Amino acid sequence: MFNLNGKIALVTGGSRGIGRAIALALAAQGAAVVVNYQSNADAAHAVVEAITGQGGRALAVQGDVKDAATAQEMVKAATSEFGRLDILVNNAGTTRDMLLPMMKEEDWDTVLDTNLKGAFLVTKAAIRPMIRQKSGRIINITSMAGVAGNAGQANYSAAKAGLIGFTKSVAKEIGSRGITVNAVAPGFIPTDLTASVPADIIARAVEMSSLKRPGTVEDVAAAVVFLASDEAGWITGQVLAVDGGLVM
Ligand code: NAP
Repeated sequence: MFNLNGKIALVTGGSRGIGRAIALALAAQGAAVVVNYQSNADAAHAVVEAITGQGGRALAVQGDVKDAATAQEMVKAATSEFGRLDILVNNAGTTRDMLLPMMKEEDWDTVLDTNLKGAFLVTKAAIRPMIRQKSGRIINITSMAGVAGNAGQANYSAAKAGLIGFTKSVAKEIGSRGITVNAVAPGFIPTDLTASVPADIIARAVEMSSLKRPGTVEDVAAAVVFLASDEAGWITGQVLAVDGGLVM
């Protein structure tokens, strides 16, 4: 597909779901991958083994993206182990779905801190080596909920919409340094995150979409690989929907 030989990538939340697929897809194109996870060490090490078993290079790094010191450590792990950092994928995310009258303040804070503040902290740490290198790719995993809104997800939609504003602002700020910043907005993808979403809601989203099939983690990973590639070098500040044509 695209040649990422010699590139070094950091994928937050790379242990499971979409992040796992992104880590594997970047590695399949030749990138060395730092696989960040929060608590699921076995899953993260399984991703690393899958990559190294294919002759690739990978490293698991535990850390909470909500923590500024951890963000620095993750980037340091990439630069000290592999020498540089070319690709950052801000993928770590979580949900605490609830209708607004019942939504707890702590659930608002957790979702905003993980999905939005986490991207701020890790991006802030990652752009230092990228600015020195005068090149880099930052890809933020937002959501169609951040574009179109979603009942029961006021916290998540606000975080993901904020991530889109963050994407565009940082793209304007650091474009002159040779760094592109884009977002990918998936529709419903079966993962642990969406396991509790009622089947009829997912079926309705599939029916409302243009392509009439559920998305896969690989559909999202392919878009990330493209945006990470040299071929996407004149694309920045964009939000690429990967949702089967649900939101147009
Ligand atoms: P998932 O299966 O629940 O996986 C979440 C990943 O994020 C795990 O690797 C988890 O690590 C990590 N994580 C969670 N909180 C973290 C924190 N504070 N610090 C570091 N890592 C953390 O979720 P997913 O469905 O793959 O979602 C991945 C991204 O895509 C999220 O940003 C999500 O909002 C977005 N998205 C998903 C969908 C969908 O339908 N699935 C749609 C649109 C957007 P552990 O394994 O250690 O817990």
